[in-house]
Amino acid sequence: MTRVRITRLSLRWRVAVAFGLGSLMITGIFAVVTWNLASGYMLRQREMSATAQAEVNVRLVDSALHQGSGGLGDLLTGLTTDSDSSVLLERTQGWLTSGRQIDPARLPTPLLALGEQGVPARQRLVVEGVPVLAVTLPVSSDRSTYVELFPLTQIDRAFRYISAVLIGGVAASTLLGIAIGLWTSKRALRPLTELTRAASRVAGGDLQARLPAQDDPDLARMATTFNRTVEELEDRVRQDARFAGDVSHELRSPLTTMANAAAVLHRRRDEMTGTAGRAVELLLAEVTRFQRMVVDLLEISRDHQIDDAAVETVDLGELVDHVTRVRLHPCPVVEIDGAAPAVQGDRRRLDRVVANLLDNAEKYAGGPVRVAVLRSTAGARIEVDDAGPGIPPELRRQVFERFARGVRAGRRGDDAGSGLGLALVTQHVARHGGSAWVEDRPGGGARFVVELPVGAP
Ligand code: ADP
Repeated sequence: MTRVRITRLSLRWRVAVAFGLGSLMITGIFAVVTWNLASGYMLRQREMSATAQAEVNVRLVDSALHQGSGGLGDLLTGLTTDSDSSVLLERTQGWLTSGRQIDPARLPTPLLALGEQGVPARQRLVVEGVPVLAVTLPVSSDRSTYVELFPLTQIDRAFRYISAVLIGGVAASTLLGIAIGLWTSKRALRPLTELTRAASRVAGGDLQARLPAQDDPDLARMATTFNRTVEELEDRVRQDARFAGDVSHELRSPLTTMANAAAVLHRRRDEMTGTAGRAVELLLAEVTRFQRMVVDLLEISRDHQIDDAAVETVDLGELVDHVTRVRLHPCPVVEIDGAAPAVQGDRRRLDRVVANLLDNAEKYAGGPVRVAVLRSTAGARIEVDDAGPGIPPELRRQVFERFARGVRAGRRGDDAGSGLGLALVTQHVARHGGSAWVEDRPGGGARFVVELPVGAP
């Protein structure tokens, strides 16, 4: 069964449509009332003047008939006022007509019947394409019926003009209603837009994001509640980070002692046999990993507590080239796109980002095969390619989380890392308003990408 997906209008558009419909209803009612009043009044006026005119004319016809019907034809011709008007006189001998020639058979029988019965009557009708007002009056002298057709073309034109103006007015006011609705809803939703912006900054890790103070009492409560919630969240995060930092700090000295002791034991490895020797090796590997983890943890928690970002203009090409030359021997050529813009950033953190990516490529993929600094739509991007096993798609997000060790999860050994290197990369890059991810390298292996905007963090 095919499912029809109905896209709901956004709140802004729903408000705008409601304004438009409201405006359409009000102006529509106003237009209908105006139309009825104006057209009714004009028609009544026309009918009254036509009836009065016909009554005068019928008296003239009546007196002419009294004096004998000699000049009747000329009189009837003289009574027609314009080319579209017609005068018809039904006599026992037949019909006499003047003006626009109309077949009497086209006139409605009930109207003629009333005239014949001596009852004055009038009716609006269209005769041969021309709207007319037919007035029927009895002629008292010889029981004839006098019918005069007054053209309504002018009044009809006036009606068409008025209706066009009214329809145009209703359409314009509906559009205006929609425009006002859009403008009003934009203004009314502005605090919500600010709230969404602030909330997404908080979600992106910027715990300093706050809503500006509001004058409106309703909005003031929302802003205060939001700001208080974020403050509490920030406090909690700082406390957690401080705790992790304190623990890491406290662990550093005993760990150094353990590492030294393990190193002393390892130097005497040859004197140990079997499992004892293997145990010493394992001890040294684990203590080294533990030390690395504590250093990384300390950096991550320190990053949350202190905002020591020294923002400066950083030439990424130069920075990546320098870090690569210091860390890798032999050093691969760093491909630098001359168009890559300099970024505003913290050199220490960016150094660390590049170093972690290069170290990982060394540790897990036999070293980077390409290091590049390129221009991107957002600003600049760093790419570190390796020809190693790559990262399976399902683990690509996970490896950037803390203590995530990808396919190595659960394994122990010399190459076992802390699982914090890529988490640090994400944290530092996010501070710069950028993003980091991993994708497939064309030809096999992994491509770690860091994208940084040009602006300051
Ligand atoms: P670690 O301290 O374990 O290196 P990272 O956060 O730097 O922590 O990396 C997380 C995991 O991602 C690693 O354990 C490894 O499994 C995987 N990984 C990182 N870089 C690469 C790479 N270049 N090639 C393959 N796997 C990698």
